[in-house]
Amino acid sequence: MQHNDLLARTQAVVWHPCTQMKDQTRIAPLAVARGAGVWLYDTDGNKFLDAISSWWVNLFGHANPEIGAAVRDQLDRIEHVMLAGCTHEPVVALSEQLVQLSGLAHVFYASDGASATEIALKMSFHYWRNVGKPNKINFVSLKNGYHGETLGALSVTDVAIFKDVYAPLVRDSAQVMSPDWRLAEPGETSESYALRAALSLENHLKKWHDEVAAVIVEPLVQCAAGMAMHHPAYLARVRVLCDQYQVHLIADEIAVGFGRTGTMFAYEQARILPDLVCLSKGITAGYLPLSAVLASEDIYQAFYADDTARGFLHSHSYTGNPLACRAALASLTIFARDQILDKNQHKGAYLEAAAQVLRNHPRVTHFRRTGMILAFDVVDAPVNFAQQFYQAALAQNLLLRPIGHTVYFMPPYVIDEREIDTLVAGALAALSQI
Ligand SMILES: *Cc1c(COP(=O)(O)O)cnc(C)c1O
Repeated sequence: MQHNDLLARTQAVVWHPCTQMKDQTRIAPLAVARGAGVWLYDTDGNKFLDAISSWWVNLFGHANPEIGAAVRDQLDRIEHVMLAGCTHEPVVALSEQLVQLSGLAHVFYASDGASATEIALKMSFHYWRNVGKPNKINFVSLKNGYHGETLGALSVTDVAIFKDVYAPLVRDSAQVMSPDWRLAEPGETSESYALRAALSLENHLKKWHDEVAAVIVEPLVQCAAGMAMHHPAYLARVRVLCDQYQVHLIADEIAVGFGRTGTMFAYEQARILPDLVCLSKGITAGYLPLSAVLASEDIYQAFYADDTARGFLHSHSYTGNPLACRAALASLTIFARDQILDKNQHKGAYLEAAAQVLRNHPRVTHFRRTGMILAFDVVDAPVNFAQQFYQAALAQNLLLRPIGHTVYFMPPYVIDEREIDTLVAGALAALSQI
């Protein structure tokens, strides 16, 4: 009763994201009442394993007592204060830790991933202007890349369903070959494919570097493209090319940051430092909206001047929100104290071993894993496979949302071995029904 009431009310007034609202009259959204660990509980008391970390944000489970306590403690101190002309302990402490963890030098804040992309693009352009290269006004991104859906972020995003309608509003940018190893020729290693993909960028920069401000990439995993994974050699090569042609390298770690790929930041696996790093999603362990752009000392210094207009005058009202910073700090405390990255080495390996039954399934291809992200593609998938699988998975008490014909697991790090077994068995059962 209560359940149906909530669905009717949401349908009446809530305009859901990434949703054709008319479809929702056939497929009801999950009415979530509460969460605990990897589990979500609906208003009827059924539980569902959140195997995609609520769109890749959750790290340490729902209703994590430690993160909740940190946010509650902050609530009684200062909930929010503007960050222009004011500062506070949580934002300073978080910035110190991010600088220390990343190897970059300064942290600029916003509230969501797309805004972080906007900031990185604007910073790069403005940097070149400040150093006397005002012709560097263009950006390069990867085929099938995803960097968010505001107009500036869409200009470097290459996902037709999100972009095509808005094309008349969006500035052009160049897309170069993706290093996605599924596209390698038979017999070609992921590494040699990555280097071949880098040639596409090299050819572009050779010709256009005078007009290119930055290259933006999703390091190691192009998540929205369907968990397209690549060899770290690609990033190493991109770093060399960016140096050679005086172009910034922007690492969009909004999805892959905070341990998803096995290291705190994915770019570490290529032993490089980007010029700008975008962070969001896992930054608060999935608690509160927050994003950050980390900048190199060189970039920061180009804005540091007596002239106001040389500064980076961008702002959002909730920049550096103290509650969000406290959630982020609590998350980093858990990472360090509980040696999460080490433990995830074993957990990721266990997940891969448990999922061998899926790898061996006759309809499964391109089985792959990077850190705590495991994915596979389904052959002979019907057109509406993603929707059918989503519903079949719900019937197995799993929240899974395939991207096209790619099924992926990106669970919160608190998932235990028994829950991993449950996840794999349920996914196998769902697959057998479609
Ligand atoms: C989710 C995502 C974004 C956009 O973040 P929002 O908070 O949804 O605006 C940008 N880049 C990547 C790689 C993402 O996965």
